Amino acid sequence: MVLQHSGSPLQLKDLPIPAPGPGQLLIKVAACAICRTDLHILDGELTEPKLPLVPGHQIVGRVVTSGSGVTQFKPGDRVGVPWLGSTCGHCPDCNDGRENLCDQARFTGYHLDGGYAEYAVADQRFCFALPEGFGDLQAAPLLCAGLIGYRSLRMTGEARRLGIYGFGAAAHIIIQVARWQGREVYAFTRAGDYEGQQFARQLGAVWVGASDQLPPETLDAAIIFAPAGELVPAALKAVRKGGTVVCAGIHMSDIPSFPYHLLWGERVLRSVANLTRRDGEEFLEIAPRVPVRTEVQLYPLEAANEALADLKGGRVKGAGVLVVDQNSI
Ligand SMILES: [Zn+2]
Ligand SMILES: [Zn+2]
Repeated sequence: MVLQHSGSPLQLKDLPIPAPGPGQLLIKVAACAICRTDLHILDGELTEPKLPLVPGHQIVGRVVTSGSGVTQFKPGDRVGVPWLGSTCGHCPDCNDGRENLCDQARFTGYHLDGGYAEYAVADQRFCFALPEGFGDLQAAPLLCAGLIGYRSLRMTGEARRLGIYGFGAAAHIIIQVARWQGREVYAFTRAGDYEGQQFARQLGAVWVGASDQLPPETLDAAIIFAPAGELVPAALKAVRKGGTVVCAGIHMSDIPSFPYHLLWGERVLRSVANLTRRDGEEFLEIAPRVPVRTEVQLYPLEAANEALADLKGGRVKGAGVLVVDQNSI
């Protein structure tokens, strides 16, 4: 499924099977989860996509063959391909464990063709082995919703009372990790989204409500997964002095101005950008221990436009996944 121009729907096309370059794997894609970032790319809110582009950065598949110099994986191995596709490897950010901030980083399904396709190529150094016990479809959402959600959760430090704004793919995974870590989760959804609130309650939220409500207890931290800038002052209002508000999305609508006293008291407001390979290794080690159970809503590859429309309209429960290889069901 190919994006020709920002703002236009994806088109079903027959493309040649890509050839793996040095250090790259050729992967037969089993499944690829969809992400809100894909919507931001399609809608032109992220302005530098390779065009034409095959989107998709939560790829699960199996190695078919590889280019020269590949040592980490062999044909038949199951691999996961995340958003971080490559980095320069030698800038100060790369050297200091912040490869997520590398200026030369290239991202899967944005600068590089991704997984809305039957085949993809990826740099072996940025692919992950996936834990046993997760089917292909269930593993796919771990690769962004899980990984970047986990990085966001880590940024909340030791927060015990945790607010989550927006209860989609990332939230439904991260609430499971947060509870396993002994935290209390307060879930905020769009007003009137009773289905989302019910889902959060099933997954163990101690309180659920609308995002303009204040929780019964002051929160130690909050993560905003929904791309709505007005949630920033709402979340700041809900956290205690010294608490942290983490904006987890790659794009957000403008943040409205708000009185300084909402930030005063050493509240911290920060974003989370991309992921490091270390985030991936840590999260994929934790996920089977929790154990995380992903809820997936399946679509055939050629229904990618419909899947993304459902994501935009808030009609996906858990994570949307494109099934590329029917044998993976
Ligand atoms: Zn993503
Ligand atoms: Zn770098």
